[in-house]
Amino acid sequence: MLPALTAQAGETDNLARFPDTAVQLLRDNGLMGLLVPEEYGGLGGDLGDLIAVAGMLASSCASTAMVWAMHCQQVDCIVRFGSQQLRDRLLPRIASGEIYLASVTSEPGKGGHLLSGRAALEGNIDHQLRFERETPIVTGGSQAEGFLITMRESPDAADHRVTLLYADREQLSLESIGSWDTLGMRGTESRGLRLAGSVPAYQVIGNPGDFKTVAVESMIPAGHLAWSGVWLGAARSALSGVLAMVRSGGGSRTTELSAERIARARIDIELVAAYLGVVRDEVLGHRREKSPLSSTATQIHLNNLKVIASELTFRSVDRLLQVAGLFSGYKRDSPIPLERTFRDLRSASLNYSNDRLLTMNGALTLLDRDVTLLPKDVVLSSASAGEEGSILS
Ligand SMILES: Cc1cc2nc3c(=O)[nH]c(=O)nc-3n(C[C@H](O)[C@H](O)[C@H](O)COP(=O)(O)OP(=O)(O)OC[C@H]3O[C@@H](n4cnc5c(N)ncnc54)[C@H](O)[C@@H]3O)c2cc1C
Repeated sequence: MLPALTAQAGETDNLARFPDTAVQLLRDNGLMGLLVPEEYGGLGGDLGDLIAVAGMLASSCASTAMVWAMHCQQVDCIVRFGSQQLRDRLLPRIASGEIYLASVTSEPGKGGHLLSGRAALEGNIDHQLRFERETPIVTGGSQAEGFLITMRESPDAADHRVTLLYADREQLSLESIGSWDTLGMRGTESRGLRLAGSVPAYQVIGNPGDFKTVAVESMIPAGHLAWSGVWLGAARSALSGVLAMVRSGGGSRTTELSAERIARARIDIELVAAYLGVVRDEVLGHRREKSPLSSTATQIHLNNLKVIASELTFRSVDRLLQVAGLFSGYKRDSPIPLERTFRDLRSASLNYSNDRLLTMNGALTLLDRDVTLLPKDVVLSSASAGEEGSILS
């Protein structure tokens, strides 16, 4: 499967077109159902599997990997918060590869802000819910068979009372708007959409008006973990390509300066891998123990992960481009697709703006006066020093 993904990556990027053939392969191989429990016909994977597969796919085509990662992010929300009726109807179809899920959270007027909504749901929660909305950017909106959509709970609800709902393509009227001619991640074909439709109440995911819980427990952790896996996989593949080139004597000469750049690229990639690993374990631990992810420290770690992974993977590939030079890296027809990876990774800090996460983390950090680090036992705090079993107790 990976050679086929690699083979289509250049053209998908050139044409800024959705990677149809690659996604068909993912459908055929059962990967659209990675997170669907086995009882529904899925692979029953967890967020650790999601990260690992995302990185593997990204080593061939970062756009395909991101399309798939975002789909899985939506699947996690349905698995954890969908009503029994919705899960029974939808999950077997996702597992069989019939449904690719798109995400509609951005909205004109509020930009990327996840936890607020402008356009409001109409109708009665006991019957049919009607909606009409625009979104400037939806990955694979023209291809998706299903959509997860955020809406303000009702016309008189506050902006932060957001409801998440599922809609089948057949339940919607859709009109593509805008273009998708971007620097990178061109293969995600994330054009805008104008959409309208109505759905029965069982298609609401989580409690009406309480999208925040779904976001904190599922959409944000699954997203930050999976996206980081994509960016890490792409950067690791770039390093591996440059190492092969340097060792074969092709491209630029090995100098002390290029050795230093290679060493620093490796440090950045190692740091992302290590932090991704500990945040993954923190989230998996909470899920195993059925404890919430809403603590201040866990929120900080998840936001830090997204910022760290987006910045360091991009920086590493920037350095690698300098090592490879103009003819072996910067040119679009270079033997390794470094310039594409560079462009793809430039989107990482914008794909939910790092600025938003940093301002949020500044405020959260003021609340976490103990400074709860990951892993928690790496530095003993004065509180843990007094605990039974501590060498300092
Ligand atoms: C490849 C890709 C695929 C995507 N797919 C989807 C999708 O399928 N569905 C979807 O809904 N969205 C999608 N998005 C959109 C994404 O989630 C963000 O919402 C979007 O990129 C934000 O765009 P923005 O930076 O213009 O807007 P905003 O986040 O609104 O930010 C606008 C500007 O204001 C600054 N800013 C905003 N808030 C703050 C703050 N608190 N402090 C300081 N500065 C701030 C930002 O840095 C930025 O410069 C995708 C994005 C990318 C890159």
